Amino acid sequence: MASSSTQPAAEAVDVILRDGGTLRLRPPDSDDTPGLIAFFGGLTEQSLFRRFHGFRHVDRGLVEPLLDPDWSGRGALLGSLADSRNEERIVAVASYTRSSDTEIAEMAFAVADDEQGRGIGTRLLEQLAARASRAGIRRFVAEVMASNAAALSVFSNAGFELVRERESGEIELRFPLAPTRAFNARVEERDHTAVVASLRPFFEPSAVAVIGASRRRGSIGGELFRNILQADFAGAAYPVNRNGDSVAGVRGYRALDEIPDAVDLAVICLPAEQVIEAAHVALRHGARALCVISAGFAETGAEGRAREERLLALVRAHGARLVGPNCLGIAVPTRGLNATFAPRALPPGRIGFSSQSGALGLALLEKAAERNLGFSAFVSIGNKADVSSNDLLEWWEEDDGTDLVLLYLESFGNPRAFSRIARRVARRKPILARKAGSTSAGSRAASSHTAALASSEAAVDALFRHTGVLRARTLEELIDAAALLSSQPLPQGRRVGVITNAGGLGILCADACESAGLSLPELREETRSLLAGLVPVEASLVNPVDLLGSATAATYEGVIAPVLTDANVDALIVIFVPPVVADADEVAAAIRRAVEQAKPTKPVIAVVVSAEGTPAALREHGSPVVALPYPESAARALSLAVAHSEWLARPTPNDFPIAGIDAATARNVVDSALAQATDMWLPPSEARALLQAYGIPLVAESEAADSEQAVSAASELGFPAVVKTAAPGVHKSELGGVAVDLRDEKEVRVAAERIGFPVIVQPFLESGIELLAGIVQDPVFGPLVAFGAGGALAELIGEASFRLAPLDALEADELVTGGKAGRLVAGFRGAPAADAKSVADLLLRLGRLAADMPEINELDLNPILAGPSGCTVVDARVRLSTPAPRRQLKGW
Ligand code: ADP
Ligand code: MG
Repeated sequence: MASSSTQPAAEAVDVILRDGGTLRLRPPDSDDTPGLIAFFGGLTEQSLFRRFHGFRHVDRGLVEPLLDPDWSGRGALLGSLADSRNEERIVAVASYTRSSDTEIAEMAFAVADDEQGRGIGTRLLEQLAARASRAGIRRFVAEVMASNAAALSVFSNAGFELVRERESGEIELRFPLAPTRAFNARVEERDHTAVVASLRPFFEPSAVAVIGASRRRGSIGGELFRNILQADFAGAAYPVNRNGDSVAGVRGYRALDEIPDAVDLAVICLPAEQVIEAAHVALRHGARALCVISAGFAETGAEGRAREERLLALVRAHGARLVGPNCLGIAVPTRGLNATFAPRALPPGRIGFSSQSGALGLALLEKAAERNLGFSAFVSIGNKADVSSNDLLEWWEEDDGTDLVLLYLESFGNPRAFSRIARRVARRKPILARKAGSTSAGSRAASSHTAALASSEAAVDALFRHTGVLRARTLEELIDAAALLSSQPLPQGRRVGVITNAGGLGILCADACESAGLSLPELREETRSLLAGLVPVEASLVNPVDLLGSATAATYEGVIAPVLTDANVDALIVIFVPPVVADADEVAAAIRRAVEQAKPTKPVIAVVVSAEGTPAALREHGSPVVALPYPESAARALSLAVAHSEWLARPTPNDFPIAGIDAATARNVVDSALAQATDMWLPPSEARALLQAYGIPLVAESEAADSEQAVSAASELGFPAVVKTAAPGVHKSELGGVAVDLRDEKEVRVAAERIGFPVIVQPFLESGIELLAGIVQDPVFGPLVAFGAGGALAELIGEASFRLAPLDALEADELVTGGKAGRLVAGFRGAPAADAKSVADLLLRLGRLAADMPEINELDLNPILAGPSGCTVVDARVRLSTPAPRRQLKGW
């Protein structure tokens, strides 16, 4: 292969095609001249004619305009695959030329005849449009021959808003490049179909080869191969090793290309240095799914990283996909596939589990097995050079055998894509995640309040909230919640009924419920009178229902139905500690019988605290009750289930465009400031222009260069006045740069002279609470919006809530009504409530601004003075910097 395709060029992007194949796109350079000539020369006469609207001689002159695009005048992308001799072969080219001094470019593309119909043209068009758009081009024009149905369908499928004009045999298509909602939805749909197709050979392989399957016991490859045999895989399994030794009675091969069968999944367990060669053979032999167990890649430093890039380039050159490297493998228990070296087979079930850490994945599987939890699939994604949990979510969204998704995450490759995909999937199936490690927000020296308040976890929390992903705080909690969600109906509210035979545990449970945000309501009159007939007079019939130590299996069996059917109760926790009089197994069986009879639509959790562990009756598959170890575990798991049902019940936010936004003016402010310096605090007047363009309400103000101007500004704006320094980016009051409540001209003059010119003069707004809102850039997550208590309280309270920008209307409302700032807004300690609507509107605008202007590095609105009739920003600081380009090789 030509060297250019083994190293991803800085501007390369990988795309995924309708049939699940992948393709790397990159701009052509002069080394590609022969390849391009071969490409155009290899097109059928008809294709060539259609591309150039006439007969053209294929020579250097034809391809030269495509080389080394500058994007502003010319853009071009090519896609290449490896041919049968492993030479790079260009299979598609798209390009544009800008009409001089216009925002319009003319584009054209061609796809090799034998690669047509896979959606390559559409992907090229998408990627080319994105690059053109970044270079300031607003529209594409394309001339297509009316007879060229394939090309016409590429344009119409892409999702752009086309305007067609027909003249004789040609159709002229024009379309704006700015992505519309319809366009984004199309892209999302294409990604989804393509990703699902690409993962099929991992989940439903018909033949698996294990490369590096040694006959020696204890070797990774050897054990992995034996695991496949033991799991009773329905397809064929082949061991491959250096000598072609048979393994565990199965005939072995020396190389994958000696296997007489078509192998779709190749699992590689070789020393790192041998992986690429083996991958090469497997891919050449038609494997579309590669799972690389071997370590020694990006996790080991620069050399390993380079090796991983080579491996990925090779996978792309063959249009395939890769799980790992540095992983534990993949298991699909429902199909009898266990291509992991886990010591124990996974029980089949309906949970899909993706783990970034192999070892931790194993530990979790052990725990899950103890609880009798079954899996539809387990994928250890390791270094996730290619397949990530985002891809797996797309698969599980579609997979009828999966009801619940578990994610163990250590880092996010593309949190924006995660956000989009997880939010969609969570509507259909709950996603439970445990995130380990910390992220980068706030890790650098922060000079705004917003940035200082952004803890490393703020971004992850914001992301999970936005997407409806349920965040477990510990692994234990992850398993508990998985057990609950995979076996019980969702609670329709936060009210919990508790039955216990030990008062102390009842209290413990009540406390745990309260701190998890659940409540223990009073039981209804009817329920209590029913219970009174079943329990001793000393028993407590308030919630928790305390049956006392004398309760027997029969007592439990009797009381469950009345409490469970009580209309005040959304979920039931039944606690039992074995005393002398009752046997845990009998009580467990009684609980089970009672719940089976009641056929509840509410979740029921049993907590049996005993030395022998959970009785079998509650642990078995098909138990209508889920057993959790402690009252606290029950409360925590239940609160996650409640969070999920509340999230599902959220109305879909209406995302009407926000009125009164002048993005062009704001863009001008940003661009002209950054033309002066690459990192700067905006002077007050420019910060003002920027915020006003987005309709953010600002206090009236004037800048004054001397005392005369200050005095006349104050008289114009009205007394009392405020004078503050106009120095950009400083904490003004810390430097003695703010004077408030100035009653007359004299006070203004004295203050202004003391502070030093230029100064800003504002009217002094007397009433209102002080709030803070801001923007901070996270290098991985992108812009976040913060909201909290402002002014002096900002430092004192020292916390803010964060959401990913842009916010939807619900998120803005949640911010304004939640947390400590929410209590301020609602009217803390007798203060009148502030106008929450106007604050939410401000936050929506801020979120839009953050999303539109990635150059805003930090922004503080502190304070926003809010009162019953609205809110006003009296102090704004904005720091701009040229954003670091985000290189995202994976284009989906
Ligand atoms: P900095 O945050 O740089 O110290 P501010 O402009 O926020 O400077 O002023 C400090 C404090 O002064 C604010 O938190 C607010 O309490 C008060 N303040 C500033 N401007 C006004 C104003 N126009 N009306 C009422 N109070 C103000
Ligand atoms: Mg301030």
